[in-house]
Amino acid sequence: MKQPNGQQIISLFEQWAPKSLAVEGDSIGLQVGTLNKPVSKVLVTLDVNPQVVQEAVELACELIIAHHPPIYRGMKNMRTDLPQGRLVEQLIKHDIAVYAAHTNLDIATGGVNDLLADALHLKNIEIMEQTSAERLMKLAVFTPKESTEQVREALANAGAGQIGDYTNCSFTSPGEGRFKPSASADPYIGKANELAVVEEDKVEVVFPISIKNRVLKALLTSHPYEEPAYDLLLMDVEVNEKGLGRIGTLPNPVTLSEYAQTVKQQLQVPFVRVVGPLDKTIQKVAVLGGDGNKYIQTAKRAGADVFVTGDLYFHVAQDAEAIDLAVIDPGHHIESIMKTGVADYMNTACNEKKLACSFIPSKLSTEPFQLI
Ligand SMILES: [Zn+2]
Repeated sequence: MKQPNGQQIISLFEQWAPKSLAVEGDSIGLQVGTLNKPVSKVLVTLDVNPQVVQEAVELACELIIAHHPPIYRGMKNMRTDLPQGRLVEQLIKHDIAVYAAHTNLDIATGGVNDLLADALHLKNIEIMEQTSAERLMKLAVFTPKESTEQVREALANAGAGQIGDYTNCSFTSPGEGRFKPSASADPYIGKANELAVVEEDKVEVVFPISIKNRVLKALLTSHPYEEPAYDLLLMDVEVNEKGLGRIGTLPNPVTLSEYAQTVKQQLQVPFVRVVGPLDKTIQKVAVLGGDGNKYIQTAKRAGADVFVTGDLYFHVAQDAEAIDLAVIDPGHHIESIMKTGVADYMNTACNEKKLACSFIPSKLSTEPFQLI
């Protein structure tokens, strides 16, 4: 096992929840301290408050990964006689860095919204509101027959040829290649100034634009020709759709009242607020962790019978009622599901990379509300 530094830990994390997924203007990334130091223990928390900082000190954590950014709307001063400045002071005094992963972690595959959808027993889970996608590219390369297999393999190893749940997808067709090397060429086949006719294969693969450089590098290093011939096309097809919220179906229809009980149990909250007729039949469920007030119409358009989300306003609840969308509000604190979600994912990722670092879910509740 190797001792990682903070930067290595965060690069590993960002392969899962890259900053580029976050909605515009979100406060994410390193907010306090530095990543240029060895990190062996990371505390994972929904919020950073003085009790959580104390927990990190007691556990000797060098880094905190938080879902809610402690510096959200910017800081105009660093006054240690005010709560926010005092919090930063404590973190710096104990050399604890804070890294925030907010909407990028909501959107990431396997992130907050997928964790909630799984906890709520949803199947056939889809994105509720798409925020980004990538264009697909198509590469067609011409290879001498004896090299076709090695080029095909190199392209697949670079990640080309993935279609849904299938990898190593390609199409190969045989043909005849013609070329005349010039006097200054160093040809793999043929002689200077003589037309060569070679039995070649055309290998076609698709891949998302984000891995273009990696795929081209694999092509150029595996191909035997001095000047490999290839076509590269940007296609009108999108892949890797990412987005906010999830929508899925329950294995069996239930009443709104029954499903409210399931939500309460599964998300371990003392109560939920419910909008809609309690005997309404529920099968299609939309979920969005945190504040979903802006997404009532989106959930309705997506065909949801019920929308599970937090921080519901009085008038938004009335709007939902008016469009016949049931809502279950289990509160904002349900996002604390990310504590074990992130810790499990990162502990596995670090084990695979042989990095000596453990991720610990905070044991503290940061729910400010009490039920009297
Ligand atoms: Zn939140």
